[in-house]
Amino acid sequence: MVDVDHSKYRILITDDDDDARMVLRLMVERDGYQVIEAKDGLQAIEKFEEYEPDVILMDCMMPNLDGFSTVERIRQNPRGKDIPIVMVTALNDDGSVQRGFKVGASDYISKPVQVALMRQRLHRLIRTKAAEDGLRQVIEDQKILHRIDREIGYTLNLERVLSLTLDTVMRRTAASSCVVGWINITKRQLERLAGLGSNKILTEPILQTELTTPDSPLALVFNGDQPLYETKDGLFARLMIPLVIQGKVKGVIAVEGVVQEYYNQTDLDFLVHLASRTAEAIEKTQVYQKSHDYNVMMDRLNEINTAISSSLNREDMVEMSTRGLAVLLGGSSAMFFEYDARETRLTLKSSFVVEGMADKLPELGTTYTPSEEFVKRTQDGVLQFQPYGEGLEKAIGEFSKAFNYQAGVVVSISTDNKLSAIIVMGESRYERFFSVDELALARSLGVHVMVMFQQAKLYSNIKDLEEVKSEMIRMASHDLKNPLLQVQGYLDLFVKTLKVDLDDQQKEFLVRVRSGTKKMNDLLEDILNLERIESHMTMDLHEIDLHKLVLEIFTSLKPQADIKAQTFTLNLTEERLPALGNEIQIRQAITNFVGNAIKYTPDEGEVVVEVKVEKGEFKFKVTDSGYGIPKDRQSKLFERFYRARTPGTEDIPGTGLGLSLVKTVIERHGGSVWFESEEGAGSTFGLNLPLKR
Ligand code: ADP
Repeated sequence: MVDVDHSKYRILITDDDDDARMVLRLMVERDGYQVIEAKDGLQAIEKFEEYEPDVILMDCMMPNLDGFSTVERIRQNPRGKDIPIVMVTALNDDGSVQRGFKVGASDYISKPVQVALMRQRLHRLIRTKAAEDGLRQVIEDQKILHRIDREIGYTLNLERVLSLTLDTVMRRTAASSCVVGWINITKRQLERLAGLGSNKILTEPILQTELTTPDSPLALVFNGDQPLYETKDGLFARLMIPLVIQGKVKGVIAVEGVVQEYYNQTDLDFLVHLASRTAEAIEKTQVYQKSHDYNVMMDRLNEINTAISSSLNREDMVEMSTRGLAVLLGGSSAMFFEYDARETRLTLKSSFVVEGMADKLPELGTTYTPSEEFVKRTQDGVLQFQPYGEGLEKAIGEFSKAFNYQAGVVVSISTDNKLSAIIVMGESRYERFFSVDELALARSLGVHVMVMFQQAKLYSNIKDLEEVKSEMIRMASHDLKNPLLQVQGYLDLFVKTLKVDLDDQQKEFLVRVRSGTKKMNDLLEDILNLERIESHMTMDLHEIDLHKLVLEIFTSLKPQADIKAQTFTLNLTEERLPALGNEIQIRQAITNFVGNAIKYTPDEGEVVVEVKVEKGEFKFKVTDSGYGIPKDRQSKLFERFYRARTPGTEDIPGTGLGLSLVKTVIERHGGSVWFESEEGAGSTFGLNLPLKR
């Protein structure tokens, strides 16, 4: 049976007869209930609205408003829907009883009132009411817990969950203020997540290490996992409910100004329940936040890596990786040190202070001698340091002291398994702990930088080799050209001065020798052209008119197309097409495209040259109805010395250098080349060049 505390319940006694009211009052008060009185129906309604009684005793015959009408009106009020109302009257005829129930009375007692009966009825009503209230509370509580689950499940809205928690706690404990605190694992401190009412708890974060102080109420909560209730001067009380995740206390709901008599064990049980739901909600959103942050950092890392890869210059890489690490982990500054193992010396090569930070970093070129321990530990890839962290390595602490860092990360860069450089990222604003994920990302940046350094080195080796090669080709071509010209010259002289008639076969031999030397000469010409263009890195830019250029090229190549009886057309509507570039090179490139089209198209075929302007770009293309190029030979077309050699084109002379030259020239002018081709059906070669604005 429910044990009911009568003093919590209010009974409204309504009777116009003073004596009758007095008798009822004495009776009810003896059982410990609170009593409110009303002299008539209208007053009863007023008192009901003011006090919200738990039971109403109602006389029937009263002036102003009789009992029946009063009950009817109370029932119309939503708050009066469920209040037990007992009609107390001398009118005990069937008609009145029926009328009473019809307007909404819950029970009926006749006058004169029998004490035992009245007490028993009241007790029963109150017990039922208490049980109903309890049930309603349970349902309310469930609704709140459910709402928290829903907020988290659907919207991940932690703010709403926290305000729901605060509001519920305040109402259930009749407290004056409430705070939700949670451990920030990065900063290792207990911080306030939300609060309601004016309170002095957690106005400042508390370091986790301080949560172990013996006897401090917070320490008690964090080391146990039970709610803690404190009384102060017998007036104010503080309630602390731990927020527990998998048996570990991760936070606290701290309530101040709790009026102890306003809550009981049931309330406390509910609050513990509420706390566990709140804890889950906080944990869930933090896990979500963490994975979100991780994705953001991954994106950042990709961008940084791409930027580093876009350069092949080691100095650029050093600068970008220094900035990159600071940006990646959100620190206040970063430094790049080169390490000289022979001298055991670190030299500052690049430094970066994030906009708005006041970090004072040493001048570039400053050197440090790190301890052996430091070098050994750094070689592992990545490590973090905190000046006051547990198990602090002195070796690493030197950085935090020298630069006033509260925390930081050291990323190592090794070449051939030997430490060659380190990037130090520091945080001067607050002590901070880096998660495993953050360290892994920092390390991955380090590895990328290491690979890029190696590439930069290879690239510079290759560039050196290229130069040597170009020089050799130039020399060889020149040296070959002179004797070849001599061969040609003497051959001509020989033919001219020949006194005897040659037979057909001998004539054929001479023709072959001649065409052989011509081929060799053409090849040398092409090689020299290509080398000249490629080695000419900085070129003179002049304004050129592409309209005029295309027209000239078309006119100069027309005879070649005519010899092959090809239809050779030009679509050129634009008037002036000014661009910046090297005229000789661009003329050569376009001539190559059109020349190829004529060359690789059989007699009586068709070649169309077209020029368009689109989005400020010069778009040139030449389409032929020629031999075309098989798909499997297309990918290498722009490589030097590559010739597709398809049936029908074997005997067409060439070097395989023309297209590679076109590509080099056009790309150097900020343009691009493209082509489309189908074997047996013809090809289209195109190039785009920016026009001068
Ligand atoms: P080549 O001096 O041999 O013409 P290119 O570099 O100009 O050298 O061209 C490379 C190869 O691409 C050619 O050998 C040829 O096989 C193919 N090619 C170029 N243009 C065309 C075209 N319009 N139609 C068919 N094949 C072509």
